[in-house]
Amino acid sequence: MVGNWPRSVIVVGAGIVGLSTAWFLQERGVEVKVVDRGGVAAGASWGNAGWVAPGLAIPLNEPAVLRYGLRSLLNADAPLHVPASLDAGLWAFLARFAANCRWRSWMRAVRANLPLNEECVEAYEVLAANGVSAPVIAAPITAAFRTARHAESLLRELRRLEAAGQRVDHTVLDARRLAEHVPLAGPALGVGVRIDGQRYVDPGAFVHALGKAVMSRGATVYAFEVDEVRTDGRKVIVRSGKGTVLSADAVVLATGAWLPRLARQWGVRVPVRAGRGYSFTVPVDHPVPGPIYLPDVRVACTPYRNGLRVAGTMEFRDPDAPQVPARLEAIVASAQPLLRGVHWDERTDVWVGPRPITPDGRPLIGATKAPGIYVAGGHGMWGLAHGPITGRLLAEHITTGKQPTALADFAPLR
Ligand SMILES: Cc1cc2nc3c(=O)[nH]c(=O)nc-3n(C[C@H](O)[C@H](O)[C@H](O)COP(=O)(O)OP(=O)(O)OC[C@H]3O[C@@H](n4cnc5c(N)ncnc54)[C@H](O)[C@@H]3O)c2cc1C
Repeated sequence: MVGNWPRSVIVVGAGIVGLSTAWFLQERGVEVKVVDRGGVAAGASWGNAGWVAPGLAIPLNEPAVLRYGLRSLLNADAPLHVPASLDAGLWAFLARFAANCRWRSWMRAVRANLPLNEECVEAYEVLAANGVSAPVIAAPITAAFRTARHAESLLRELRRLEAAGQRVDHTVLDARRLAEHVPLAGPALGVGVRIDGQRYVDPGAFVHALGKAVMSRGATVYAFEVDEVRTDGRKVIVRSGKGTVLSADAVVLATGAWLPRLARQWGVRVPVRAGRGYSFTVPVDHPVPGPIYLPDVRVACTPYRNGLRVAGTMEFRDPDAPQVPARLEAIVASAQPLLRGVHWDERTDVWVGPRPITPDGRPLIGATKAPGIYVAGGHGMWGLAHGPITGRLLAEHITTGKQPTALADFAPLR
């Protein structure tokens, strides 16, 4: 330690959150080691939709989700899926989540997220301008609906965001203008809402470029599973089941949906569960100028390597469980009637990944009860967008000992 602040930090988890924290710690002169059991981008950070979309980064715990969730318990094809065989932990989590599906709690999460939304694009630009060589592409995101009545639910949500202090530039499109903006829109889609000022990335490529930048600035990325985190009051020690040991002045646990396994013993009682989503890539006949959002079926589509990445569904299941083909089929069945010129049968890159969901819609970023042990995770549906700004704020906290006000509502010991 220099003064009271760490000179060396181990970051556990090489997803967008862990690697962003590593990069911003290096920026502040800290020596960093990164550990991931599966290498860079082995978790949710690889196959997600890639939206850096502050205008849509809306917490999950809105009251409608509860009604929707209860209905979907009876329908295996619904975008939200809870397996019939619930473990006790998942029951407890869902009960807490349900208790937070109230406007007051949702509004608190929206307000807490405001600083992350305000600065998330800039944090990406800082990385891209300083050696992370992967494009961050500016494009509007167009939400498409069957009718104006369907569009009203998103417009209402945008008005609520505005009331909370987050202005989202948007324009309602009629069927003709929707077809101009979204050449893939099929005849069933009659109304659009274009959200301006957003960005998207190829998330796997971006996170790998970030990993490369962190390594070129002197970090080593170790490939092992951390089984134990200890502190002797002076140093923190991480250890694998096979006996590999690393030590440093501090550790950041950024293990996504697996966070509770290492963080619980340090007083982090807020549960984090995997809300698993699926994605795949399909060839398309028409150009894809920007991301397309199909809110009624909760599917996100993003231009990806000359085709389209299609992502969706939310399945509360163990993060390490195998893929469930029925979930993927449900995404295809729901999106197919809405888009044209998409070759659904030629899908590749089929992927499942765990969104790290907290019950109150707020991530966990900051100190634990043990000096030198920090956590960063639980960003749910928006960890890709909020990863870099999380890293920047947490690096400031660790190297100054002062919690930035933007992190106050994300305290892991809440
Ligand atoms: C289908 C889908 C679409 C999405 N779309 C978007 C989007 O458009 N925009 C957006 O902002 N977000 C999106 N998300 C959410 C986003 O992907 C996540 O919030 C984000 O990737 C979480 O990042 P993370 O670094 O916290 O976790 P992860 O990327 O999961 O990284 C955690 C890492 O920790 C490692 N690990 C775990 N335990 C251990 C251990 N004991 N020892 C060593 N290593 C360990 C894992 O191997 C993993 O690599 C989407 C998610 C899904 C599933």
